[in-house]
Amino acid sequence: MSIPKIFRIKLGVSCVYLIRERGTILVDAGPPRQEQKFVNKARAAGIDPEEISLVVVTHAHMDHIGSLAGIRTITNAPVLAHAGEKTIIEQALTEIPKGVTPWGRVMRFAISLSEKNIRFEPAPVDIAVEPHNPNDCYPLNRFGIDGKIVHTPGHTKGSISLLLESGDAFVGDLLMNGFPMRRGPGIPIFADDLETVKNSVRVLLSQGAVLFFPGHGNPFAASDLTGIC
Ligand SMILES: [Zn+2]
Repeated sequence: MSIPKIFRIKLGVSCVYLIRERGTILVDAGPPRQEQKFVNKARAAGIDPEEISLVVVTHAHMDHIGSLAGIRTITNAPVLAHAGEKTIIEQALTEIPKGVTPWGRVMRFAISLSEKNIRFEPAPVDIAVEPHNPNDCYPLNRFGIDGKIVHTPGHTKGSISLLLESGDAFVGDLLMNGFPMRRGPGIPIFADDLETVKNSVRVLLSQGAVLFFPGHGNPFAASDLTGIC
């Protein structure tokens, strides 16, 4: 197992992650119109976007796939997502799940006011994975990464996480940490099903996750989740 280098890049309200081991992959693609900012920040971190060999999409919300089409063109890297999110990505549909906390319901209403005016480019999904149970994972060794894709539904039905052998877990919106979503680490404020969220977190913990890298906010340790899941 190599020690991964992890670069966190903030694009608008979202965070995307570059992971470099023997290969380099990207997790998520940020909100719309962030392509150039991504390129600039990747280069500032010493990574040529063309060395990226895979873009993993944790789920098909516009703040994670808004710049996917542009980044796919720039990197020429295949896009991997869960089969259940493929149509949403390829048709650039916007769809936010219901708010499951009081603040989530306020945010959901605010987003709904502008949702229909937000446009972004669709992007093809080159690798549609469909793991059916926690042990049915998609390995990433062929991309030079010691890790795997784990199906972690709950925020959306087709949400996936990337779990490295090092214990670093890239979870999209399975967990959130930070403004404007939350004040500290915890469950997402929007979710398809909250009990499924908690079960997915338990799956990641049982498979060795020790450090969580969310799509919104700073990374946090598994111990920060005590009493939450
Ligand atoms: Zn989301």
